Amino acid sequence: MFAVKHFVRVNLNSNNNSISKISIRTINHQCRLLIVGGGSGGMSMGAKFAKDYKQDDIIIVEPSNLHYYQPMFTLIGGGIKTFDKSHRQTKNIIPKKVKWIQDSVTQFKPNDSMVITSEGDKISYDYMLVAMGLVLNYNQIKGCEEALACAPDSGVCSIYSPKYVSQVLPTLENFKSGNALFTFPHSPVKCPGAPQKICYLAEHLFRKRNVRDKANISYITALPVIFGVKEYAKSLVKVAAKKKINVKYSTHLVEIFPDKKEAVFQNLNDKSCTTEKYSVLHVTPPQSTPPELKAATHLTNEAGFLDVKKHNLQHVKYPNIFGIGDCTNSPNSKTVAAVAAQSQVVYKHLKALMDGKVEKQSKYDGYASCPLLTGYGTCILAEFDYNLERKETFPIDQRKESWLMYQLKKEAMPPLYWHLMLNGYWNGPEFYRKMLHLGMV
Ligand SMILES: Cc1cc2nc3c(=O)[nH]c(=O)nc-3n(C[C@H](O)[C@H](O)[C@H](O)COP(=O)(O)OP(=O)(O)OC[C@H]3O[C@@H](n4cnc5c(N)ncnc54)[C@H](O)[C@@H]3O)c2cc1C
Repeated sequence: MFAVKHFVRVNLNSNNNSISKISIRTINHQCRLLIVGGGSGGMSMGAKFAKDYKQDDIIIVEPSNLHYYQPMFTLIGGGIKTFDKSHRQTKNIIPKKVKWIQDSVTQFKPNDSMVITSEGDKISYDYMLVAMGLVLNYNQIKGCEEALACAPDSGVCSIYSPKYVSQVLPTLENFKSGNALFTFPHSPVKCPGAPQKICYLAEHLFRKRNVRDKANISYITALPVIFGVKEYAKSLVKVAAKKKINVKYSTHLVEIFPDKKEAVFQNLNDKSCTTEKYSVLHVTPPQSTPPELKAATHLTNEAGFLDVKKHNLQHVKYPNIFGIGDCTNSPNSKTVAAVAAQSQVVYKHLKALMDGKVEKQSKYDGYASCPLLTGYGTCILAEFDYNLERKETFPIDQRKESWLMYQLKKEAMPPLYWHLMLNGYWNGPEFYRKMLHLGMV
């Protein structure tokens, strides 16, 4: 694998209008496997492949200095964990033997098996794995970024971004009385359970702070249901009712007036708009794939998601391209849990192809899970597949609120992520499910 550097220096001095030393950098890299994006999917796959290949055979392109364990953001919002526990330096978790290029891919040229980065580097690959996740489009809600910038005083907060998550707890702790509104946008989102988890934690926090009777709490979702899997939705409707949380369906947030503390919502059925006063407004932003991927229309579906086969995540047109995680169009719930289950399947298919073989056995069934915190000390651990059928690991009824599942989310999942998943050793709970059900599932 090689890197060729071309530096072009131009010294232009026309009529002493000094334009000096413009340098254009082009570096050519070549690798066996290029991974675009070093989040949960990219890093865990890099770790798996690093074991099989030589130094620099694998390249990860990732712009960020920091790697976040995003599922912890909900816990930070509720004051259960602190922000410093949610991230590590990218340089410290890049798998050994993998070359990290700290940059963003800006153009895909799949017919030439090549990408171009924002610095102008060209990276040629034999195989490519796209793991670019989703971006947060707070700017699609008028007034939102302005309001978030003034938290906690503005009353507007969001667990979704590392930029804003630290202001969630102070905002909830500032609450004295009035409306507390929690939104779910009109777009695909990562962890579709997170917007209601923070709502339930806030409700419990208000009870602890003795302000619950002064709070009018609403969960306002663009979806026509509280959760996509019917059997868990039934439990969650009961949880919301027990907690006296109003649930409003098919409605999304379109504008915020921070100076008046008013939010405008649109009903998606009849398009009518209503304005509500708020004391607290928790925003879940509209989300999409990154613009660089959306622009690569030969790789994506109409919604801008990488177009892959849902049982092995191989690209539908380019056999040397695979995807993993939130940026693909496989119709599973976008979670780290799904990434873990996908990782072994993608690894087997891609490795076989790289070795000139064909993998026939391994199949991704759409497994995803969502630990739905329903308060401090309780959680419903939803686990399901493409058919929205329950696929539970533990031999108990996971539709019920449980202290054990809460501890699992809080104590067991973070180390499992940092130590097992990012080192390529966690492929989801399939093995343990079989063991705990004595091989009967
Ligand atoms: C608040 C919140 C709560 C959550 N709770 C849970 C939970 O309880 N359980 C659970 O399983 N999941 C949860 N998730 C979801 C989970 O974090 C994501 O599904 C998971 O991180 C997806 O992994 P990924 O690799 O697809 O994307 P990411 O981990 O987001 O990584 C994508 C990477 O691609 C990089 N990238 C983007 N554009 C480019 C480019 N042009 N060039 C190069 N690199 C690029 C980004 O910098 C990023 O590092 C939660 C997420 C949030 C935000």
